[in-house]
Amino acid sequence: MICIYCQKEFEPSKYRRTKQRACGDPVCQRKRQRDNLDSWQGRNPLYYRIKRMDPVWRAKARQRAKRWRTSHRDRIQAYRAATMDQYRVYMREYMRRYRATIREKAAPSLPKE
Ligand SMILES: [Zn+2]
Repeated sequence: MICIYCQKEFEPSKYRRTKQRACGDPVCQRKRQRDNLDSWQGRNPLYYRIKRMDPVWRAKARQRAKRWRTSHRDRIQAYRAATMDQYRVYMREYMRRYRATIREKAAPSLPKE
């Protein structure tokens, strides 16, 4: 059997003898999982849009994301260090908008006609 990702010969699992198309190499397995996920999302384009309308699911997703952020601070710091220039541009724009909303709250401009 030839792996569809690395084109190397491999021995398929005895349980997946006819179906297995990727070898056991972690790199190929990650590619296979990514492709499977992409094809699933292509077949179920509304799945997360419908989920996001559920307040219970949204609260859980927020908790899950927060838990990931607090337990993977090193990954976030590494990513931020690698993309520091973009981050500076983004933060400059973000703070400009933030200060504009503060000013708007302190002294609301006249409503538009
Ligand atoms: Zn492979």
